[in-house]
Amino acid sequence: MSIQDNLEQIQKNVSAALAKRAKDLLMPADVKLLAVTKNQNVATIQEAIRQGVTAIGENRVQEAQQKYEQLTDIKWHLIGHLQTNKVKQALQMFDLIHSVDSERLVVEINRVAENMNKLQDVLIQVNVAGEESKYGITPQEVMPLAKLISGLNHVRLCGLMTIAPHYAEAEQVRPICKEMYRLFVKLKEYELPRTRIEWLSMGMTNDYTVAIEEGANIVRIGTGIFGKREYK
Ligand SMILES: *Cc1c(COP(=O)(O)O)cnc(C)c1O
Repeated sequence: MSIQDNLEQIQKNVSAALAKRAKDLLMPADVKLLAVTKNQNVATIQEAIRQGVTAIGENRVQEAQQKYEQLTDIKWHLIGHLQTNKVKQALQMFDLIHSVDSERLVVEINRVAENMNKLQDVLIQVNVAGEESKYGITPQEVMPLAKLISGLNHVRLCGLMTIAPHYAEAEQVRPICKEMYRLFVKLKEYELPRTRIEWLSMGMTNDYTVAIEEGANIVRIGTGIFGKREYK
């Protein structure tokens, strides 16, 4: 299957999932496809861009830096963990950072953004299942961190992100997606100053249709577009 075929199939699946979404969800019927390009080379990513991809997700700052200059007219999202010593490089590239998971990190992002005169859009990463192996804060910690962010002048909170556990059946992520949606609505209704709560980033190749049914409006897809990743 070519990238073009894969993207066409994904678009069909996205539409079908949107049609199944409960009508009372407070989400516009619009889903942003984020092509996850970790371990993909520039030529492959350029092909995806030719086929209509408008935003790419990278996990690591250093890998993104190696590709950044060669790829234009594309939005860059950071979806992997960010260390405070990489914040400056990250802010030079990324339009949206999905992985804010501590006060320390977001205070550093604000400090660097102020120096660069940038308003950095971020999402809070939530570890709903409480998996040891994953980054992200607990659902209980979301509101306090959101409040803190709303007091920072150079960071704008735009929503939430989660990486669900890898289950054998996609259907198993549904309770996690429902919990994320509840948190998202709560955050929106909180009406914190200077936030723009619009993105709920959840769903990957294995489970994006379930995530969309439950309210996701950014899905992060790597394998489904590019095939199985080759680790060098
Ligand atoms: C790798 C990765 C993805 C994409 O995973 P696929 O299963 O290849 O679609 C999505 N989100 C994050 C945070 C990732 O690290």
